[in-house]
Amino acid sequence: MKALALFSGGLDSLLAIKLIQEAGVEVEAVYFLQPFLPSQQEEKLIKHLNSLISQLKVKLHIVPLGDDYLRMLESPQHGYGKAFNPCLDCHIFFLRQAGEMLKKLDADFLITGEVVGQRPKSQHKGAFPIIDQESGLAGLIVRPLSAGLLPPTISETEGWISLDHCPSIQGRQRKVQLELAEKYNLKYETPAGGCQLTNREFGNKAKDLLAADGKLKLETLRLLSTGRHFRFSPKFKGIIGRNHLENQELFRYFYKHRWDSGLYLLKAMGAPGPLSLGMGLANSEDLENLALLTTRYSDHQDQAEVSIKILASGKNHHKSKLTCKKTTDPLVTEKFRIT
Ligand code: SF4
Repeated sequence: MKALALFSGGLDSLLAIKLIQEAGVEVEAVYFLQPFLPSQQEEKLIKHLNSLISQLKVKLHIVPLGDDYLRMLESPQHGYGKAFNPCLDCHIFFLRQAGEMLKKLDADFLITGEVVGQRPKSQHKGAFPIIDQESGLAGLIVRPLSAGLLPPTISETEGWISLDHCPSIQGRQRKVQLELAEKYNLKYETPAGGCQLTNREFGNKAKDLLAADGKLKLETLRLLSTGRHFRFSPKFKGIIGRNHLENQELFRYFYKHRWDSGLYLLKAMGAPGPLSLGMGLANSEDLENLALLTTRYSDHQDQAEVSIKILASGKNHHKSKLTCKKTTDPLVTEKFRIT
């Protein structure tokens, strides 16, 4: 008997796997990788997930999410949570994908670390039947952490497994999970930052992209975790690096797309400062505003006259220069910042 676990990187999914292993079932796990992190952070995350799962000697499949995930994100049937998180739809999406893997892996059912009543949107008792039906996997999703509170699944009614040793956890308290982690000697550490979609600032930047471009794109979404983001017009935005790594990330993006039109790279001359990436259709005022904010985050003195170099992408990519007076007035920043 084999099960496939939806692994979130959190303690609950580790425990769910352990409890099912205790029932004598072989387990493999899948992690659905959201396309929101810059490559270096993504590598770190994968390393972290592999180290967590290695405690249970389970094979981990990392599945990058693609365009079909973004289509769901643009218009989730059950709506968004407090930020840009369509948890119910997202969860159903993950389960459907995992359900499609069952046959290929010769696995018999799915496991999740869901707990009754833990999350208002997707983990209340009434949400589970909706999730099971809409994912097309009714009877095949085992939730070991709340097993005692839920109707038996096919694997239990058929006598394939017994879940008598599983707890009946309900609500947001973590006491039982922490006791179990100690009992099984499991090390855990939720991946830094958690799901980006639950972060309001990230969500607002994603909504801004969706409104401006009419759809979400993998490459531009990946940039949302890099730099400070500003909107200058419905068709033009700018990103300003906050450190050396982010400047490198912005430069890499520009270089990769240097033959496409509609990209600008800006740098204040004469003092250390950030790189800025302009994206979209810019008029001269838009470029002046991005240049002004580029000086804002440079080491030049307030009110200094600063020369800004601009490199434009495209088949005839060209260099130009602008001069502007640095201002540290927060109103200028706030006028354009996407928050
Ligand atoms: S927290 Fe994020 S990954 Fe988890 S279900 Fe919600 S949107 Fe999906």
